[in-house]
This record gives sequence, C-alpha cells and structure tokens, in this order.
Amino acid sequence: MSSEFFDKVFDRVGKIDATSLKSQLKRLSGELSMMETVFRSIQEGVMVIGHGGRLIYANGAAERMLSFDASKIKGRASGRFLCGIDWLEDVDWEKAEGRDWSHLLAREIEVTYPQRRVISFYAVPISAPDAPTSSNALVILRDVTAERDREASALEDERLNAVKTLAASVAHEIGNPLNAIGIHLQLLEREVRNLDGDRRDSLGELVGVARAEVKRLDTIITQFLQALRHTAPTLEPGDAVALIGETLAAMRLEIENRRIEVKVTAPEKAPPVPLDPGQIKQVFYNIVKNAMEAMPDGGRLDISVSSGDAFLRIDFADNGVGIPEDALGRIFDAYHTTKAKGTGLGLMIVKRIVEAHGGQIEVSSRQGQGTRFRILLPLLERRIRKLKA
Ligand code: ADP
Ligand code: MG
Repeated sequence: MSSEFFDKVFDRVGKIDATSLKSQLKRLSGELSMMETVFRSIQEGVMVIGHGGRLIYANGAAERMLSFDASKIKGRASGRFLCGIDWLEDVDWEKAEGRDWSHLLAREIEVTYPQRRVISFYAVPISAPDAPTSSNALVILRDVTAERDREASALEDERLNAVKTLAASVAHEIGNPLNAIGIHLQLLEREVRNLDGDRRDSLGELVGVARAEVKRLDTIITQFLQALRHTAPTLEPGDAVALIGETLAAMRLEIENRRIEVKVTAPEKAPPVPLDPGQIKQVFYNIVKNAMEAMPDGGRLDISVSSGDAFLRIDFADNGVGIPEDALGRIFDAYHTTKAKGTGLGLMIVKRIVEAHGGQIEVSSRQGQGTRFRILLPLLERRIRKLKA
C-alpha cells in the first residue's frame, strides 16, 4: 500500500464513516500480520537500525544469529548489545543517503557467542519516516558458517592432496634405486659365498644385515604407497576361502619358521562375495602377519569362516600377547605401532579396504591371552536382494 494512499486517508479520516474505516483497518492489520509472518519465517536476519545505532526492528533470525533479545534493547543504542556491529555508531547518518555506502557496509563477522558463527551482512540506507533528512539502515544478515567451513576444508583437502602426491612420488622414486641395491646385494652375496673361511662368514653376515634392512625399507615404502593411493576396489564375485588359502601358501615359510600352527575352518563351499582379490589378500596378509608377530614364541592361529544372512564372517583368533584395553581404540590409526620396526599402517589399510567393500571389521582382545579380528563382508546374494527392493 503506497504512502500517498495513507496521506489521502489521513486527510479525510474525519469524513470516512466508521464501517469503511473499520474495514480498511482490518485489511491493514491483515497485511501487517502477513508481513510479520514473512519476516519471522525467513532465514535471513533483518534489522532496521536508526540514528546513532538505535535498534528499531529485528526479526527472529537476527536475534538468534547475534543472540540478543530485541524487546529488551529496542530504541537503545545497539552497538553495545550487538557484538560486532558497533561500526553502525560511526556511520554519518545525515550523509548516509549516498549511493556508495551500501557496498561499504557489506562484510562478514565472526561471532563466538553462544556458538561460533560466521555471519555475512550488508546494510543499505532506507529513508526514516519520522526524520526526512536522515536515514535508517536496513541490515540483512546471513549465516554462512557452513559455507565458509566447507570452503576451508576443501582448501585443506587440496593442500593435503598436493602433499600426498609429492610424498607418493618421492616414495616411488626411492623404490627404484632400492630395487637396484637389493639386486646388487644379492649378487654380492653370491660372490661372497665363493670366498673362503673367515672372510666368507664375516662378509656374509654384513651383506645379510644390509639385505634385511633393504627388505624392511621396501616394506615401509610399499605400505606407505598403499596407504597413500588407496584405489577403489574392483569388485567381482569371489571365493574368500580360496583367497585365505592362497595367502597362507605365500606365507608358508614364515609360518613354519615361527612355529605357528594355523587351522582353517570353513564351509565346503563358501557363498560368493563381491571382492577385489588383490586387496582382500592384502587384508588377510596383514592380519596373519600381525598375529604371527604377536606370538614370538610360536602359537596358534584359528581362522574360521561362516556365513550369516547378510555377511560372510571371517575370524582370525590368535593366542598371542593381546592388546591392552587403552590401545584397542587406536590400533586402526595410521602410525600406531608398538613394534620397534613397525609402520603402524597395516591395520589402517585393512580397515580401509574392508570398508570400501561395504564390510566391517571388529577386534576383541584380552591381554596375555590373544586377539580376534572379525571381518564381515557383504554377501553377493544380499546385494541382489537389496537392489530388487
Ligand atoms: P604394525 O604391524 O606395523 O605395528 P599394524 O597397523 O599392522 O602396524 O598394527 C598396529 C598395532 O596393533 C601393532 O603394533 C600391535 O600393537 C597391534 N596389533 C595388531 N594386531 C595384533 C595382534 N594380532 N595381537 C596383538 N597386537 C596386535
Ligand atoms: Mg602390521
């Protein structure tokens, strides 16, 4: 409704009959309450601030963002109450009609009470009905905390990715000369074997130490690279039990040397599981290797496979040293290791692969008695049922 309309009504208010005045007022109050609803419902904060920073109006969103109670500070200088917008007191209100102050007064503030929020706001001059030479400020506030946080974490990711790429290429570059050193140590070892007596033994020992260290470095680099470049698994229906067999076969020598007795209990024909064979073998390898390392004087590793409704369950139970309770929560963290020569990356890789397969991994342990890792891999059948549903 235009102000000219009201001017006319005011001029003639004495002449209008009561009924039509009443109906006009009713219409007005209807429009007013609609406006109130609109201002209450919008997510943007809306404030009107007058001369000297007096608060004239604030909607609910503005109150919440800046945490104040409009009814308490209405008409008073708002700078002290509205944290971060005391700049309004500096505004030269008489001259504020200029075009350029709207962009002058657009900025972001960070409030910390009652919670951290980033609020973007802008103020535009609007005419003050009661003082034609001066103006009020209409202030629009928007909570941009989530947007800013997202941007910050995206930036973080970018930096992290750059570092990862660099680390991966350095590790990769180290791999090649390391390979060459390994091969030459092997050749050297052969030459040494042709020597005689004392020299052969002492040189042989030196070369042996060097080869073991090269092998260790190689493991660190391999695991480091695996941890850095985790690729999404290429899933195809596979037989987890067969993969356990393959893993154990590859580790046979070490298992025998360490005097570990391994027993596998599995159904005759295990139901197929969508899996990436290379990655799942890596999982089994890491868990069996950890179990062996937990049983330095030999021991027993029970591997049992069974299938439920939705998952194939694979348990690895050893009777090794166990894991202290306060460390259980950290064993999947990168670089958590209790071994002098450990990398602390094995279980992190294991967890990541299992989760990329839609599976779960649990661990339970009792110190001095042993540890059980349980892996649940979703069955192929369940997936089909899920797709149909
Ligand atoms: P790493 O083997 O290089 O130390 P892992 O991520 O493979 O790194 O394992 C992390 C830690 O979890 C180990 O250092 C060890 O303390 C603990 N751990 C893992 N598996 C077992 C197990 N079967 N028995 C006892 N402790 C284990
Ligand atoms: Mg390990």
